[in-house]
Amino acid sequence: MASRPYNLYAGPAILPLEVMEQAREELLDFAGTGLSILESSHRSPGYAEVNDSARENLRRLLGVPENYSILFLQGGASLQFGMIPMNFLRGGEADYVNTGAWSKKAIKEAGLFGEVNIAGSSEDRNFCYVPDPDKLELSPDAKYVHICSNETIGGIRYNRFPRTGEVPLVADMSSEICSRKIDVSGFDLIYAGAQKNLGPAGVTIVIISDRLLESCPDGLTTMLDYRTHAEKDSNYNTPPVFSIYIVGLVLKWLEKQGGIAAIEERNNRKAALIYDLIDSSDFYRGTADPGDRSTMNITFRLPSEELEAEFIAGGKKAGFIGLKGHRSVGGCRASIYNAFPEEGVQALVEFMREFEKKN
Ligand SMILES: *Cc1c(COP(=O)(O)O)cnc(C)c1O
Repeated sequence: MASRPYNLYAGPAILPLEVMEQAREELLDFAGTGLSILESSHRSPGYAEVNDSARENLRRLLGVPENYSILFLQGGASLQFGMIPMNFLRGGEADYVNTGAWSKKAIKEAGLFGEVNIAGSSEDRNFCYVPDPDKLELSPDAKYVHICSNETIGGIRYNRFPRTGEVPLVADMSSEICSRKIDVSGFDLIYAGAQKNLGPAGVTIVIISDRLLESCPDGLTTMLDYRTHAEKDSNYNTPPVFSIYIVGLVLKWLEKQGGIAAIEERNNRKAALIYDLIDSSDFYRGTADPGDRSTMNITFRLPSEELEAEFIAGGKKAGFIGLKGHRSVGGCRASIYNAFPEEGVQALVEFMREFEKKN
């Protein structure tokens, strides 16, 4: 096989090669059935095993307590922006922390269903930091507090999470789920589109506590009521069978890597390689405050936009795909999710050093 480029896309993003090879291997004959998973009923025993093992592997890996449901939904993280307030806001008020583009989209949707208090914001400095989680202006009557734990575009993340007492904490973890250890019991709802760190596009992971689930109102359209999916084990209607199957393989791969603690250590090492170069250079400039830097999405600028364009084009020629920053902010971004190999980061750092020397 021709050598594959290093994939730095923000999402859909790199998947473990082993996972894709296994999927290819099994594509025409899934689990000895003689049928492809692509053409198998979502009511077949083979699929039941795919669904159950993906859910239970995720439970084990992340340490999801038994009093939480794990759901596989559709509509992306973007549908969760609306589904959360539709279920839990309902004319009340909720606290949202505004840390960037994804927070803003969530805030906009919530505004359709009730009053949104901005409990903290880093818009004053172009979303280059996370507001101190201990200094948020939380409202006692909030139905929930919403954060985006890792802002994919700005390249910032929470190192500590807000403590919200009895008020449910809700987090968009799309671009970092399973990249580091978290205490799930500190949240009532975690959601993530799979296509950043867990699998292909088409499935969204929702982890929801029983107490929040029980507060879903009656009268919602069936598909937008979380209880429908919890009660039917994410099999109320046809789920995205193939996407969930791949998520299952990624979770098995993750387990083989040593689980979340091991992948977190590796992620820290990978990110440090690039940040160390940025910090020791006058040429590259990181856009996030050092204390709030993401280990998944590394955002940086070069001395001019011309050099940035050259860097991105040169990178592509050298085998690094996806170094362009999000179109809304420009600059450069290296998304180095779980599946991005350590030697790829070393190669990227080498390329960055060479590029700096030449310019
Ligand atoms: C990509 C992303 C989204 C949007 O996900 P979709 O699945 O495309 O709706 C939302 N939040 C964050 C943090 C993201 O990175």
